[in-house]
Amino acid sequence: MLNFEFKNPTKIIFGKGEIEKIGREIPTGAKVMMLYGGGSIKTNGVYDQVIHALKAFEVVEFAGIPANPEYEVLMQALKVIKEEKITYMLAVGGGSVIDGVKFLSAAAVYQGEHPWDILTKSIRTEVGLPFGSVLTLPATGSEMNSGAVITRAETQEKLAMGGPGLFPEFSILDPEVVKSIPKRQLVNGVTDAFTHVLEQYMTYPAGAHLQDRFSESIMQTLIEVGPKVIENPADYEAAANFMWSCTMALNGLIQKGVPTDWAVHAMGHELTALFGIDHARTLAIIAPSHYRYNFEAKKEKLAQYGQRVWGIHEGTVEQIATVAIAKTEDFFHSMEIKTTLGEYTDDYEGTAEKISKRFTERGWLGLGEHKTLSPSDVEKIVAMSY
Ligand code: NAP
Ligand code: FE
Repeated sequence: MLNFEFKNPTKIIFGKGEIEKIGREIPTGAKVMMLYGGGSIKTNGVYDQVIHALKAFEVVEFAGIPANPEYEVLMQALKVIKEEKITYMLAVGGGSVIDGVKFLSAAAVYQGEHPWDILTKSIRTEVGLPFGSVLTLPATGSEMNSGAVITRAETQEKLAMGGPGLFPEFSILDPEVVKSIPKRQLVNGVTDAFTHVLEQYMTYPAGAHLQDRFSESIMQTLIEVGPKVIENPADYEAAANFMWSCTMALNGLIQKGVPTDWAVHAMGHELTALFGIDHARTLAIIAPSHYRYNFEAKKEKLAQYGQRVWGIHEGTVEQIATVAIAKTEDFFHSMEIKTTLGEYTDDYEGTAEKISKRFTERGWLGLGEHKTLSPSDVEKIVAMSY
């Protein structure tokens, strides 16, 4: 097991009807900005519950944070935060709203001239403007981690940021919100969370037995409850287990003491930036090619995953590892998730070269758990996924 430090300060308040507890988590006298997306919270009742729970506070609303939170929109919110002297933020939404609020938490205290530098210069935030969240879409784990991904349409960029100051102070997870989520987003949620586990598990064996078992149990739970929640989002038990699995997949616990990869996300973000494909779907495009390309380096863990998660016990390490990749693709296909770029766009020629060039320009010369995956490897992996 590798050395590690672990601190996760986010308080989780989980369960039916718990949104009403927001008020007691926010400091008395705070001036609160409530941020949300395109309006799903107005039709599913979450908006009314949040407004009711915030009745003791002065609240400024900021609506319209789009999926793949857009820098220009966030800069408008930043202006309001400064003008209104906001002291606390509440994100009400999925990963996009929570990530957008994390950017604002960092940007509100940033002393430099251009907040975009937080992303391009990887500036870590030690203490940001405090915020909490009400999660409406299980998927990203953003409700209990300190990372965010921000998009800039103008330059077709999508970049990650983070820092220990960007954990939500609290997050409310009420599985009842799941029943209003459209199928497309439920499928995305299962796929994103599943791939988060893969990124922290599918590396080389590091002798971290408990973390491996945590990861395998999250994947097994998603395989079990994912189809149920997609079939019937009002199934509270399935929704609750889906929601908690998504949070546990990316709250830091399973990545402690193990090597992590994250190359699938790095390549996937480019496909969202270039083609607007949903985040989760880009991961399903890249992951199978990534595991086939890096087969030798990852085959032991692929085989362990094949045995423990998919119950494949016949064959050599190589044979089980090969079937495990196919099983992963079958799982995505079973949720009607496509696994090649060509199924989303006819305009894919040159994408691999473009992404490889961007990585070179950014100095991303070594990705993956060994930091050896070069832009030329990236080019080959992306081309394999056409
Ligand atoms: P999302 O982009 O936050 O939301 C997708 C859509 O779902 C929105 O149109 C939203 O509508 C709708 N929606 C949300 N909750 C709903 C509900 N309860 N009922 C009906 N509709 C609902 O989706 P996401 O997958 O959670 O977030 C994706 C973003 O997170 C990407 O930018 C991705 O790169 C990023 N990400 C972050 C992390 C991290 O650790 N921080 C990890 C992985 C991915 P409204 O706008 O109308 O609300
Ligand atoms: Fe993700």
